[in-house]
Amino acid sequence: MVGDIKVLSPEGKLIRIISGQAEMNKKYKEISVSLKKTPWGQEKIGGILVTCVECKITVEGQRSNQITCGSEKCIRLRGNRKKYPKSARVFNCAACGLEMQTRHHNKRTCGTERCFKDYNNIREKARLKKNKAIALSL
Ligand SMILES: [Zn+2]
Ligand SMILES: [Zn+2]
Repeated sequence: MVGDIKVLSPEGKLIRIISGQAEMNKKYKEISVSLKKTPWGQEKIGGILVTCVECKITVEGQRSNQITCGSEKCIRLRGNRKKYPKSARVFNCAACGLEMQTRHHNKRTCGTERCFKDYNNIREKARLKKNKAIALSL
């Protein structure tokens, strides 16, 4: 419990009294929402209020790393986002090996037309080889 808060003027005169608990609850909600945006803040919201990253509903959290309201739908949505994050990733061009950065989740080449064609050739050859292997095993 938090006691009442006495609001004093700069001269030390009592202006008003605020119900501490109500203010605390309100503040905590604000703080937990803003903290949640930082990785270290996520550690501190366990058992308190969690604003679901998907549907934005605020619920009481069960686990310290909880970031969704716990509904199946939101957990699934979140899972998909983890699989296909919007953040950039680094990869090597499948044709020339050049290191590249992309936000595209299935980009495979550095983007030049030559590498794009080369990569398609590699894939096509792999496909033909696989088909041949299947044909031989029949
Ligand atoms: Zn939700
Ligand atoms: Zn390339």
